[in-house]
Amino acid sequence: MSDMNEIREGEVVAEGLPEPGDAALVFIGRIRTPWTDRSACPRQGDPDGPICRLELAPPWERALVGLDAHETLEVFYWLHRSRRDLLVQRRKKDGLLRGTFSLRSPVRPNPIGTSIARLVGIEGSVVLVRGLDCLDGTPLIDLKPERRR
Ligand code: SAM
Repeated sequence: MSDMNEIREGEVVAEGLPEPGDAALVFIGRIRTPWTDRSACPRQGDPDGPICRLELAPPWERALVGLDAHETLEVFYWLHRSRRDLLVQRRKKDGLLRGTFSLRSPVRPNPIGTSIARLVGIEGSVVLVRGLDCLDGTPLIDLKPERRR
């Protein structure tokens, strides 16, 4: 498995950060995708990509009522295998040094990922979608209908 947490030349690590783990997020389930290695995982989801499973933990199934009226969802997840202490990092596509907040890199102080996903179906407590870009087993944080302007 590739080690994407190594530091590359020129990257800057924050000093004196508090221990992570002080926030009180509740994971509502796990995401099942075909990708077990970050090097194989797409950088951003493709609406025509493979079907992925959002497996909700009990009792969240009831919170899905009405979701099937929406074609497109915003999915929020916790990029749990990311390091969280980089201030400056190398941009994946060209290797240029950039501040963390100017990137959509998974390496960030609170590694929240979001994707706009196409709803394929709902089977009990499992939501089937296309358009994700996360590793198999990634914790699920939230689901919302896509925002309309
Ligand atoms: N679409 C989301 C966003 O923009 O907020 C995430 C984009 S991020 C660039 C996607 C990359 O994060 C993947 O290509 C993979 O390298 C990495 N990744 C995916 N799942 C991860 C996880 N659970 N922990 C750490 N890194 C992950």
